[in-house]
Amino acid sequence: MSSEDTGDSDRQRADQLACTEHLLQKSPDAAIIANLGVASYALASVEDRPRNFYCWGSMGVTTSIGLGLALATDEQVIVLEGDGSLLMSLGVLSTVAACGPSNLVIVVWENEVYGTTGGQPVTGIEYADAARACGLWAREANTVEGFEARYAEALAYDGAAMVVCRVEPVDPEARPQLDFAHVTRRFRDALTDDEGDR
Ligand SMILES: [Mg+2]
Repeated sequence: MSSEDTGDSDRQRADQLACTEHLLQKSPDAAIIANLGVASYALASVEDRPRNFYCWGSMGVTTSIGLGLALATDEQVIVLEGDGSLLMSLGVLSTVAACGPSNLVIVVWENEVYGTTGGQPVTGIEYADAARACGLWAREANTVEGFEARYAEALAYDGAAMVVCRVEPVDPEARPQLDFAHVTRRFRDALTDDEGDR
């Protein structure tokens, strides 16, 4: 990662939980699509809310789901993506850039491992460079302070935006419900204000 964007040392790594807590504070009403595993555990450990969608059993489609949702609603949509997951479906970045919804912010937690399957190393790439090559606005951070600054810029940017945040691997204890139907129904109801059967 280049440190040009942040002024941070290349060796620094941000605290994913602190960054997750910050984005929830700044975007309390956002619909959040979280990658399966660590991204979902971290989100649920900060707050398990109806507007959280956990991508159980579906690695590699987190950003695609977020794009689809952003195109279907005017509400703010946040994607909490994993580096390994994004690598599985990198081509989605060109689709995001082509559609460019201004209500979509993609956060990539770059911990350089497949954290949910045992910590195998991810053969990483320069994700922000790849996003920019696709036509996306993308910035990088590797401290909590840097993330806060880049996240604010991403929210304010008039178009789809990405923040790649290099983080220390974490293993939060929180485990949100694995009931796919429940998660989907709760999320849909929260976005449609449908108070029907849960
Ligand atoms: Mg990872």
